[in-house]
Amino acid sequence: MAKKAIEKEGARRMIDHAPRDGAKDPRELPKGESLDARKARFQKIFVKLHQEYLDARCALEFSNAYELLAATILSAQCTDKRVNMVMPEFRKAFPNPKSLANAEPADIEDVIKSTGFYHQKAKSLKSMASDIMDKFGGKVPATMDELTTLRGVGRKTANVILGDAFGKAEGIAVDTHVTRLSGRLGLTKNSDPQKIEQDLMQLASPKQWTLTAHVLILHGRAICDARKPKCSQCIVSELCPSSGMKGSV
Ligand code: SF4
Repeated sequence: MAKKAIEKEGARRMIDHAPRDGAKDPRELPKGESLDARKARFQKIFVKLHQEYLDARCALEFSNAYELLAATILSAQCTDKRVNMVMPEFRKAFPNPKSLANAEPADIEDVIKSTGFYHQKAKSLKSMASDIMDKFGGKVPATMDELTTLRGVGRKTANVILGDAFGKAEGIAVDTHVTRLSGRLGLTKNSDPQKIEQDLMQLASPKQWTLTAHVLILHGRAICDARKPKCSQCIVSELCPSSGMKGSV
């Protein structure tokens, strides 16, 4: 694929993109399992994963909601580690929404280049900051309805900001790992992120919503790999209907 086409495809997928690598995974609820039984099974899974990942939290480093918003946009199609490396310079160059909204796109691109898809990301960052200035007086809003009016911000990003920067759980951030694991674990039969979110919100208590995303992401990275899930080492294998699935080790 030509470079431009690759960039276009990447840009289409980068902001609150529909997760892809879970698409072929099992997405069935265990036969005959009632909602109450699934809730009870989810609670056992949650407790085990929380014990395993005691310090589960957002892997992006930030000191306020604006920085987390910028870091979340930068993290599309990029590792959190790389974003954390870029953030100190970003913070220095664009310390607040005003400086980012007024910045030249080329200057933003210079700083964020190593995170990939930097043309599109620079545009998204500038638009997001302009919206914060124009609609919210320079302050990152703290509700789902307001956050999702910012350009480039969908429910997934808004859930991250609300949960991790404001300590408010209004939903569950569904990324590629959460999509894959919730399907394999038989917690949802849906592949649409919003429907997955609704299914998970039925199983977890509101207090567990933010942490649910974090522990599923960590377990997805460490054990429940997209291509080769390590079912033989998995602490929730007894609770997982996909344990021993094709391709697992
Ligand atoms: S048992 Fe296998 S498929 Fe199920 S969560 Fe664990 S690693 Fe993933």
